Amino acid sequence: MAEAKVRDAPGLLRETHPEGYVPLPKEGETNILITSALPYCNNMPHLGNIIGSTLSADVFSRYNRTKNRKTLYICGTDEYGTATERQAQKEGKTPKELCDFYWDVHKKTYDWFELGFDYFGRTSTPKHTDITQAVFMNLRKNDFLERKETLQLYCEEDQKFLADRFAEGTCPYCSYPDARGDQCDGCSRTLDAIELINPRCVDNTSHKVVTKSSVHMYLKLDAIQPRVEEWIRQSWAAGKWSPNNVVNGSGEIIDGRLKAGLKPSAITRDLKWGVPVPAGGGENELGTEGKVIYCWFDAPLGYPSITANLTPDWEQWWFNQRDVKLYQFMGKDNIYFHTVFFPSMLIGDSRPWTMLHHVSGTEFLNYEGGKFSKSRNLGVFGTQAQQTGVPASVWRYYLLANRPESADSMFSWADFITANNSVLLNNFGNFVNRTLKFAVAKYQSTVPPSSDPAGPLSLPADDEDAGFVTDINRLIQTYNSYMDSVRIREGLQVVMQVSARGNLYLQGAGLNNALLESNPQRCALVISRAINLIWVLSALVSPFMPSVEQSILRQLACPPRTVPDTNANGDGAFGIDLLGGHVLGKTEYLFVRIDDKQAEVWRGMFGSTSGNAAAATAEGEVKGKGKPKKDKAASTSGGVAGAATAVKEKVKKVKEPKAKKGEKKEGTTTKTSDPQGDKKQEADVKKDTMESTSDIPVPSAGTGAAVPETAT
Ligand SMILES: [Zn+2]
Ligand SMILES: [Zn+2]
Repeated sequence: MAEAKVRDAPGLLRETHPEGYVPLPKEGETNILITSALPYCNNMPHLGNIIGSTLSADVFSRYNRTKNRKTLYICGTDEYGTATERQAQKEGKTPKELCDFYWDVHKKTYDWFELGFDYFGRTSTPKHTDITQAVFMNLRKNDFLERKETLQLYCEEDQKFLADRFAEGTCPYCSYPDARGDQCDGCSRTLDAIELINPRCVDNTSHKVVTKSSVHMYLKLDAIQPRVEEWIRQSWAAGKWSPNNVVNGSGEIIDGRLKAGLKPSAITRDLKWGVPVPAGGGENELGTEGKVIYCWFDAPLGYPSITANLTPDWEQWWFNQRDVKLYQFMGKDNIYFHTVFFPSMLIGDSRPWTMLHHVSGTEFLNYEGGKFSKSRNLGVFGTQAQQTGVPASVWRYYLLANRPESADSMFSWADFITANNSVLLNNFGNFVNRTLKFAVAKYQSTVPPSSDPAGPLSLPADDEDAGFVTDINRLIQTYNSYMDSVRIREGLQVVMQVSARGNLYLQGAGLNNALLESNPQRCALVISRAINLIWVLSALVSPFMPSVEQSILRQLACPPRTVPDTNANGDGAFGIDLLGGHVLGKTEYLFVRIDDKQAEVWRGMFGSTSGNAAAATAEGEVKGKGKPKKDKAASTSGGVAGAATAVKEKVKKVKEPKAKKGEKKEGTTTKTSDPQGDKKQEADVKKDTMESTSDIPVPSAGTGAAVPETAT
C-alpha cells in the first residue's frame, strides 16, 4: 500500500498495537474496564446469550478503542457449581473434562461472531482460587462472615449432601413439581434445597432423602446493606444507570430483598468441584473443612482473576477507583447479583476495589414467535450461524439492531433478510459502493483535488452543501452521546442515518457523468466530501461490524481512524482528512442480496413455530417468564418500517435523477463478494429513538434501490 495522504493532525489516526499487547490504565485519563457476564461452562450459547452480554460488551469496547481510550475487555467461562457437576455426571465426564469441552465451544462461537476480548479465560485456575480465598479471608477478618449450623438435604444411599441441583422436588411457592434445589423453573424464584416439598435425589428418585445438619459460612449482607445502598445511590448517579429491577429511573431502590432487609447468605457448599474453603478459621469455622465456596461467590471474582491470568499488573485495573471506569454487561436476571451481592463482597473486603460504574442489562431475545430451546431444536446455537453462509457482520448488525434494551425482542428470519437487503445493502453498501466506483472509474482511483482546505469543514450558509455538513456533524455528535451512554442500538441507527444522508447528498448533487462534464470543480468537491464521509463511516461502523470497516479501509487504502468529536458548537467533526491525490484501493461489495425464499429454508434448518406463537408458548416451555413483550423500538419491522415512511417524505423533497437505461443497481446484483473474508435513561430511550435526527431516518426497502448507480 502506498503511503496514505492523510491530514497531519494529532489524534486523527487510531492507535494500533502489536500482537500480544496488554492495555494498562493511564494515570489521569479515562480508562475503560469492560466485563460481560461469564457464561456457564455447561451448555451451548445461543443468540440470546450473545446479544445479552458478550456482543454488546464487544461493541462498547470497540467503540472506546475508536476513541483511543485505554480499554480492557475481559470475559471467560464460569466453571464451578452444581450445574457443571451435574451436567458432567450426565455426560459421563469429569467436571474438568466437561469444562474443557465447553470452553472450546464458547471460544469458537465468539471467535466466529468476531468478539474481540482482550482475554477470554476461565475460572478453574490457581489464580482464581487465590483471589477468591483472599476475599473470603478479608471478609472473615472484617467480621462479615458467620458460621451457622443448619439442616440440609442428605442422600443416605450416596452418603452426600444434596446441594442446589442435586435435589429436586415440588416448589413451595407455585407447586411446580420439578423445581430444582437452587431455583424453580415454574415461577423463577431462587430456592434453598431444604424448602422443597417431597425432595428427591436427582441420581435416583428411589434414594432415601433425609435432613441432616451441616455447618456453613454466611456472608452478613445485613451488616453491609447500609453501605451498599449508599454506594448504589452514588454509582447510579455517576454512572447514569438505566432503570432496572434493583433501582428505578429516579434512583429509588425497588428490589424486594433490599426493601425487606438483606439476610445473611450461605457462601459455602458441601461439594468437591469448587474453590476450597481456606483453612485457618479456628473454632469459629469448625466443620467447614473439605467444603467449597459457593459458585455465586466465586463467579464474579472471575473478572479480576481472568485479568490476573492475562497480566501480572491486573491490580492496576482492579484497584484503581480514580482512573478506571468499570462497565458490566449482563442479562436482566443478573442485575441484582452485580449491583448488590458482588459489590457487598467487595465493600466487606475493604480493599480499594474498582467498583461498577455503569450496569448494562438487557431483556430477552426470543426466537420466531417462541423461545430458544435446545431440546426442541428451536433456534441457532453455538457456531450454527455459520451454516447459513451469511457473514458474521450481518448477524451482528441484525442482533444489535434488535438489541432488547427496554423490552424483550424477537428474532425472525424474514426480518433478518429485510435488514440485510434493505438497510445494509441498499443504504449503507450503496453509498460506499456508488461513491468509490465513481472515483475509481472517473478519477483514476484517486481522491480528486478539490477547493476544500484540509481540516474540519465550516461552510457559509449559502453554500449548497452547508446543510449536509451540519447534518453530518449533528449525527456524529448524537452518535458519540449515545455510545458514551451505552445506548448501542440507537448508536447503530445513527450510523445508518449517516449513510442515508450520504445517499441523499449524492442524489441531491446529481452525481453522474453529466455533472462531471458540465461542472468538473463541483463534481470533484462532491466526490472528495463523500469519500471523506466514507472514512468517517468506517470508524462509526467499526464497533458494530469490524469486518465491514476492514473492507472499507482496503477500498480506501488507508489506516483506521478515530471517531471525531464535535466542538462546543456541535460542529468541527466532519472535514477533509483524506487529501486530494490519495490513491484508492480496489472496490469490493460490502453486502450480498439474500433471497427472500431463504427464510423458509432456514426455518427448516433451525426450527420455527411457524407463526403459531401462541400455541407454541402454551404447549412448550413452562419455563417462561411470561409472554414476550414485543419491543416496538427494537423490532426491525417496527423500526425500519416506521422510518421508511419518513424517509420517503424526505426523498420526495430531493429531485430524483432518473436512472438511465441499462444502468445496474447494486440492489439487484448477483455478483458474489468477499468483503467479509477477512464488532440517559430508559424512559427517554422509548420516546426519543429517532427524535434528535428525525429528519434523516434510516431508509427502508426500495429507497436505496431507487438511487441510481453511477454510469460507468
Ligand atoms: Zn415455583
Ligand atoms: Zn442419591
